[in-house]
Amino acid sequence: MADSKSPMNPRYQIPVATFKSKTVNLYHYILFFFMISIINCVPYVRSVRKDNLIRVAIICGVDSVSISGIKDQVFSSECQINLSSEIPQYFTSKNGFVFVNKKKYRGNLEVQLNNGKIWIINVVDIEDYLKGVVPCEIGGITQPLFEAAKAQAVAARTYAWSHIDQYEHLGFDLYATVKDQVYRGFSCENELTNLAIEQTRGQILTYRNAPVEAKYHSTCGGRTADFNDAWPGQAPPYLKSVKCTYCSKSPHFEWQKELTKDVFFKKVRNKLASIGTKIPFDELIKNIKLIKNRKSKRVLKLIIITEKNEYTIPGYYLRTVFGDDQDPGGLLKSNYITLKAKGNKVVIEGKGWGHGVGMCQFGAIEMARQGKNYQRILYHYYSGTKIKTIK
Ligand SMILES: [Zn+2]
Repeated sequence: MADSKSPMNPRYQIPVATFKSKTVNLYHYILFFFMISIINCVPYVRSVRKDNLIRVAIICGVDSVSISGIKDQVFSSECQINLSSEIPQYFTSKNGFVFVNKKKYRGNLEVQLNNGKIWIINVVDIEDYLKGVVPCEIGGITQPLFEAAKAQAVAARTYAWSHIDQYEHLGFDLYATVKDQVYRGFSCENELTNLAIEQTRGQILTYRNAPVEAKYHSTCGGRTADFNDAWPGQAPPYLKSVKCTYCSKSPHFEWQKELTKDVFFKKVRNKLASIGTKIPFDELIKNIKLIKNRKSKRVLKLIIITEKNEYTIPGYYLRTVFGDDQDPGGLLKSNYITLKAKGNKVVIEGKGWGHGVGMCQFGAIEMARQGKNYQRILYHYYSGTKIKTIK
């Protein structure tokens, strides 16, 4: 998932009713409290996009692509488009589906040119989009874990609604990768996750009547992270560290990584340069201190101690600084770690996988297994939020 944008989007606010009166009497007070109670009970958030369509970049920056769909009222099978083709082009679905490089998608397609390359945008109903997201994000779900799929559906729907127009300048809303949410179209759909989406249709998580920044991750390792453990900026009040006693069965709950000191310090030096902290080569790194967030146990600051200086790095860079090419996305599995020296080696003992903020997916699965419903799962990980239906 992408880094956070503003968690509160004023476009989603419900208009608040006001009334004026010159003579305020008991009747007015009663009416006032009656109206306030109605406003507080409004069960929905007004949608900014009336057609409920979302625009997802499914192919980014290629030289050629093959598309099957209806163009200018004629069905075109495996139409080859390359850089010399006329662009933009639009394809609508036949029986609800289009194909891109033989891969099946719901909705329609736009072929765009961005920076001299071909981009394919899938324009699809949000509920249909979710059918190609939820199974990719939560994995294979069985009937006893159905409530976890519903929790994931609400989290993914909330993410989609709160990121509409995110890349407006590029002509789409979301990437189809971990930059936003993994979306693989019709090929990854399954009946159970489709049912979870249907049974939670339109439901999103809100805070003060606006869609929340619904962050989620694989495994927290026993306690979720505070927002600022993972990102800079203003922390939304509902993304606070909470205890999670549910993910201990995850294969990522605890892990270890060992490197020789030479290799470790060399990698750290290179990674620090990549985030703009250049340590001169004649300064030997002697030690690294980790200052931790007392509540979440995540690293708040790294202090790199050399022979001549001390460099303080915010903890949200830790996964980059300690990550290497073997790690997915080049990031260390988490920033819930302890560093130990063992002879000429450095041992990283870690917990969890992912940024650790918001819903822990292994935790959600275990909560479902223990009989907790999707509302309980979501309210556990996103404190103080409310589920509402978008209209
Ligand atoms: Zn957890």
